[in-house]
Amino acid sequence: MVSTVADRRKLDIVKKDVPLSGFTTWNVGGPARYFCEPESLKHLRKTIAFAEECGLETLFLGNGSNLLVSDEGFDGLAIRLGPSFGDLENDGDKIRVSAGTPLYKVADAASKAGSSCFNFLTGIPGTVGGGLVMNAGAFGSEISDYLTKLSYLDPQGGVHEVSRRDVEFNYRSSPFQGGPDKIVLEAEFELVRDANQPDMGEILELRREKFPYSKPSAGSVFKNPTEVNMTAGQLLDEVGAKGFSVGNAVVSHQHANFILNKGHATAKNIQKVIDILRNRVYKEFGVTLVTEIVVI
Ligand SMILES: Cc1cc2nc3c(=O)[nH]c(=O)nc-3n(C[C@H](O)[C@H](O)[C@H](O)COP(=O)(O)OP(=O)(O)OC[C@H]3O[C@@H](n4cnc5c(N)ncnc54)[C@H](O)[C@@H]3O)c2cc1C
Repeated sequence: MVSTVADRRKLDIVKKDVPLSGFTTWNVGGPARYFCEPESLKHLRKTIAFAEECGLETLFLGNGSNLLVSDEGFDGLAIRLGPSFGDLENDGDKIRVSAGTPLYKVADAASKAGSSCFNFLTGIPGTVGGGLVMNAGAFGSEISDYLTKLSYLDPQGGVHEVSRRDVEFNYRSSPFQGGPDKIVLEAEFELVRDANQPDMGEILELRREKFPYSKPSAGSVFKNPTEVNMTAGQLLDEVGAKGFSVGNAVVSHQHANFILNKGHATAKNIQKVIDILRNRVYKEFGVTLVTEIVVI
C-alpha cells in the first residue's frame, strides 16, 4: 500500500495526519495524510522526490484563501509554501519575490518604491504563488498585469523560467491551475509609475464596506459570468441567497458571493450551499455559475 511505503521511507521533514483546517481561511478541511512546509528549494525538491517515489499525490498550498478542502482530507502529501519562501528584493524598478510572500508585502514594497500599481492587492489574503495561479485581481487590475517573468519547478525537480508573454493568463485563471506539475517558485514584477490606483487605506475601507471580513471565508465563491451583464453577487442576490445557510455555512448579508463559516461549518455544508445556489441561479437566469474557489 502506498501509505505503508511512505511510512517506511518517511522523511523527517514530513508530518503525518495534519488537519488542513488550520491552513485554509475557511477553517475547513480534514487531515492531509502527509504534510510538509519545506524550508528551502533543496527541501522542496526532496519532498517532491519522496512523493514521486511513494506514488503520493501532491497538493500545494499558499495561504489556503481560495481552497475548499473536503472533510475527509487529502490522501496524499500537502506541501505548503509558507514564510521560508518569502524572499523579496526591491530595486525600485522591479520586485523579485518568492512564492510564499504574502500579497500585501508586494503592495507595501511597491508603495515604498513610489508606485501604486499593486495597491489593488491590499486586503487579498493570499501569497504570490496562489495569487499567480488564480490570477488574483480587484478594482480592474490583475496580478499578471505587472508580471515580467516567473520560475516554476517541475515534478522532476527542474527549474524553468518563463517570460510573461509566454504565459496565458485570463480572468481568475492561469496555466498553473489544475495540477501539481508546475510549482510556482518566484516571480518578477515591474513597478509601473503612472498606475494611479486609489491609496491602500482607501482600498481597505472600500473592501470593508463591500466584503465581510469578520468571519472565515474564501472570498468570492463564484466567478463573474460572461454571458450576462450581471456579477455573480448580483445574480445570487436576485435569487435570495443572502442569509441562506446549511449547517454553519451561511451566505453573507453583506455580499451574496461570500459564504461564511459561522463556527464549525463543514466542507459538506459549504458544498451544499454552493450546489443549491448554483441551481437557483440556473433556474432563474439560465446561467451556470462556475466556482472561483478550488475544491479539493
Ligand atoms: C476575505 C477574502 C477576500 C478575497 N478577495 C479577493 C479578491 O479581491 N480578488 C481575488 O482574486 N481573490 C480574492 N480572494 C481569494 C484569494 O485570496 C486569492 O485567490 C489568492 O490569490 C489565493 O492565494 P493563496 O496563497 O491563498 O492560494 P491557495 O488558496 O493556497 O491556493 C490556490 C490555488 O493555487 C495553488 N497554489 C498555491 N500556491 C502554489 C504554488 N506556489 N505553485 C503552484 N500552485 C500553487 C493551490 O494548489 C490552489 O490550487 C479573497 C479571499 C478572501 C478570504
